[in-house]
Amino acid sequence: MNIVDYFTIWRRILKRKPIGFSIDITHSCTLSCQTCYMKWYQGLPELTAKDWKKVISSYHENHRYYGAWTGGEPLLRAGDIKKLIHLFKWNWIATNGTLELPHWDNVSFLVSIDGNEEIHNKQRGECWSNIVRHIRDDCFIIYDITQLNKDEKTITETVQFWHKRCRGIIFGFYTPAKQDTSGLLLSSEERKAAVGIIKGLKNRYGGFIINSIRQLQLCCHTPWGDDCPAGNCIVGLDAQGKLKKPCVMGPEVDCSLCGCAVPQFMYLVKSLDIRAILSSMRILSR
Ligand code: SF4
Ligand code: SF4
Repeated sequence: MNIVDYFTIWRRILKRKPIGFSIDITHSCTLSCQTCYMKWYQGLPELTAKDWKKVISSYHENHRYYGAWTGGEPLLRAGDIKKLIHLFKWNWIATNGTLELPHWDNVSFLVSIDGNEEIHNKQRGECWSNIVRHIRDDCFIIYDITQLNKDEKTITETVQFWHKRCRGIIFGFYTPAKQDTSGLLLSSEERKAAVGIIKGLKNRYGGFIINSIRQLQLCCHTPWGDDCPAGNCIVGLDAQGKLKKPCVMGPEVDCSLCGCAVPQFMYLVKSLDIRAILSSMRILSR
């Protein structure tokens, strides 16, 4: 992407217009995490690459600055994604890291990690060593903070382990469904305590931690309602190509407790926050 693209993205966020997609290309997964909401959809039909091309191309190219490919495990449909990535200027693949990562141009891999080896395997089953083998130095780690991994030891060990093994780590907070019974949700005070831990780590690891502290602080207490930049500017599609509302997390999500990093990034980019702009440029390029 070039500077004109970034300017256009900024203008479109300001005007609440779509800039990218989040696509559930599959419901299937290589893992079976206890709290996964995708299990509800497994067995439902999924679009073919040809159908996806029709759906995505029906949107103007100004809607297609980036495509985020999610699932399930999107790399189960790697062959189809490869046929479709040219429809976007940049692509993110949100993967659990259990499958080998392809070498594609204009693609960044975002790998979900739940903590150190012990915590990660407890949450997702014995998959850590497999993931460590696959993650490359051009990947980003996504760390969703929950009751199970909010402590200083786990956060610190995770940052220490991945520092120098990949490009950066992006923190967010667990966002619950309206009827959440998982016990994973953090209170606002617990979120603030986690931000304090990350602030300390940022002094040591600097830009490896992609979030700014301001952005994480906003994640502690910003109910967006209808004003959510992610809800307004990202087209969320389910595996049948149908629109997901209010956002990619689907109709059951509780927006009042949202801890997702994405709307905060977009809000700060819209406000011309220089750190957020530079971070966005990093994750939209190599
Ligand atoms: S890795 Fe993600 S999609 Fe797969 S089972 Fe776990 S939460 Fe669900
Ligand atoms: S869950 Fe979060 S990101 Fe999604 S629409 Fe609600 S506030 Fe926005």
